Amino acid sequence: MTKLRLLRALLAAALAAALFVTAGCGSATSSSRDGTIRIVATTGMVADLALRVGGGRVSVRALMGPGIDPHLYKASEGDLRRLEGADVILYNGFHLEAKMADVLEEIGESGRVTRAVAESIPRDRLIAVSESQVDPHVWFDVELWSFALRAVRDTLATVDPTHAAFYRANAAAYAKELAALDAWVTAQASRVPRARRVLVTAHDAFGYFGRAYGFEVRGLQGISTVSEAGARDVAELADVIVERRIPVIFVESSVSPRTIQAVQAAVRAQGFDVEIGEPLFSDAMGDAGTPEGTYPGMVRHNVRAIVSGLLGEAA
Ligand SMILES: [Zn+2]
Repeated sequence: MTKLRLLRALLAAALAAALFVTAGCGSATSSSRDGTIRIVATTGMVADLALRVGGGRVSVRALMGPGIDPHLYKASEGDLRRLEGADVILYNGFHLEAKMADVLEEIGESGRVTRAVAESIPRDRLIAVSESQVDPHVWFDVELWSFALRAVRDTLATVDPTHAAFYRANAAAYAKELAALDAWVTAQASRVPRARRVLVTAHDAFGYFGRAYGFEVRGLQGISTVSEAGARDVAELADVIVERRIPVIFVESSVSPRTIQAVQAAVRAQGFDVEIGEPLFSDAMGDAGTPEGTYPGMVRHNVRAIVSGLLGEAA
């Protein structure tokens, strides 16, 4: 594993540099020159929490940008350098960042502050998909995501206790916003009659969303995109759509639209017309500077797309 070897070398170099700094100017703190705490987050959703809690006291870098699939993402050499230079590393956990597991474990063992924010959620609120695997897509239950918010708040308050009150105030304000967002999602969902609340997507990212807001969820691929959907999966899903007269199915910004397009073709071959709705932001947010480039914006976009699609309204 060359990456791990490189990481080890980088960590050794960092340790040496830290010792040098300690000896040279008597300070062992590792925050950046302008005094901000350097945070590296994996997904945009985790970075969003860090930005909202940390405000102007932090600089936040998300490794996985718009359209990036966290299940398949591998750390680049540049990422390893960024991780090595960070004061705090925040990631989702529950194996969402499956291909970064070794790197995250190793950097955690190096003594750097790392936190899997989703893993702060109480066990009994999680969806288990097997004995050893938990569905990692916790962010689409907005209320559940506030546990991750509190994990970020507590991490920053521990790393920088001088400004703990600042982080607590920011987290409290964001928690209020998320509570309002959660109520809005519930109200929007209730516009769709129960029997029509079926959400068909490219992969199973919406299990928590379905549980929280009363949707039946069917993903073509499982909770990870690592295993690809086969022809049989496509045919079976097409049968369900035809049988239940499901009017709309969804592609996701971080997953190839190919398989959902195949489902649409298979449905149309049976004489039923299913639409492909507006692309959903499942495992990655939208572009920076757009509403969908924030967590509340991505949730609102998805809910509008799902509700208007199922009701047959123009989005
Ligand atoms: Zn996913």
